[in-house]
Amino acid sequence: MIIHTNSPEETYAAAKSFAGRLKKGDVICMYGDLGAGKTLFAQGIAEGLGVSEHVSSPTFTIVNEYEGRIPFYHFDVYRIADPEEMLEIGFDEYLFGEGVCLIEWAELVGELLPENCISVTITRSENNPEAERDIIIKADGSEDTE
Ligand code: ADP
Ligand code: MG
Repeated sequence: MIIHTNSPEETYAAAKSFAGRLKKGDVICMYGDLGAGKTLFAQGIAEGLGVSEHVSSPTFTIVNEYEGRIPFYHFDVYRIADPEEMLEIGFDEYLFGEGVCLIEWAELVGELLPENCISVTITRSENNPEAERDIIIKADGSEDTE
């Protein structure tokens, strides 16, 4: 599925609506450059899951946990030096836990990801990279590199 958005608000709304399909145990692997919109997408997912708390990027903590209709585990693994760090914070327990996991920069922990994750790749549109994005959602977890 490809979603084209013309503004940050549209990306947020698309994520919020997509969250309606999620269930506990789902893992969303996010791909895209710095500033692509991964965190914004995560914020929309959180609202869609019924999280009322403000969601900010967990860059320095690796994971933030939120309560919602379904718990939401938001990872940003940009700064990890070694995938081993993920095992130290109990990544497996989150993956097989009661909530939805979303991982920004999932390519950095590729070897630890389950096979059945949902991948979301965000790219800036060529004709309007400031404001427009193409969001490619795939059910098999593979990064879309086109
Ligand atoms: P990332 O987590 O991928 O580094 P962020 O979500 O933190 O990115 O930031 C995305 C930035 O891009 C925000 O400043 C947002 O306002 C801007 N932006 C502009 N247009 C869009 C769009 N269509 N969708 C998502 N973000 C957009
Ligand atoms: Mg981010």
